[in-house]
Amino acid sequence: MARELYLVGNWKMYKTSREATDYIQTLLPLIAKSKPNVFLAVPYTSIAPASQFAKETSVVIGAQNMNDAREGAFTGEIAGLMLKEAGASFVILGHSERRQIFHETNEMIHKKFIRALQDDLQPILCVGETLEEKDSGKTEEVLLEQLRSALDRVPKEDANKMILAYEPVWAIGTGLVATPKIAQKVHAFLRTCLSELLGKRKADAISILYGGSFKPDHVFELVAEKDIDGVLVGGASLDPKTLALIAMNFSKNTQEKK
Ligand code: PEP
Repeated sequence: MARELYLVGNWKMYKTSREATDYIQTLLPLIAKSKPNVFLAVPYTSIAPASQFAKETSVVIGAQNMNDAREGAFTGEIAGLMLKEAGASFVILGHSERRQIFHETNEMIHKKFIRALQDDLQPILCVGETLEEKDSGKTEEVLLEQLRSALDRVPKEDANKMILAYEPVWAIGTGLVATPKIAQKVHAFLRTCLSELLGKRKADAISILYGGSFKPDHVFELVAEKDIDGVLVGGASLDPKTLALIAMNFSKNTQEKK
């Protein structure tokens, strides 16, 4: 079935608000004819100006993290409702930098997932195994647990609002990219897991993105694979011209697939 295609840029902790709007201004004419949905996960302070600037354009603005509580005495945290009010449409959850550097557990990510849905933010759930887990043959076990716990007790009709991103930890910011065949094998496994958890029809409709040291040259082969419905790009998304190049290559190379 035809699924939505996505190109998601994750800016991490880069760019001021001013730089964010300059970026979008440069990006817009370059992606006018591109095929994927273009999402930008920007720093909190850039959500309001970027979403205002991107209003009525094809670019969608979102956040990179949120707290699981509606509100409360959590110094330095941010709530989903605040992101929504600022103009975010989606939120990345479970990014490996959150799991590893900020010690987020599957349980915490699950609570954030529920809250994001309650606050009408589309969750982009990241799953991925470390190099150690990969080398010890635990990739499938780790991914299944990350996915199963995020979706635990989430109503099926809500769960399929998500986008899933396979981001092998060994490929993030390291320059190592999973080959299209390896990525496809994992994506097919993830789709089987989704099918078991949510039913085949819903699983077939969920877009699964690949992420990890992605560069414009990698688009062709990756998104041609049956279960790879787009990419989540970190470092390479910081330059609007590089992101646009990915979007354009993407369009060319998915014409036959979708
Ligand atoms: C990411 O941060 O989600 C990511 C994929 O980073 P990079 O492209 O820099 O590896």
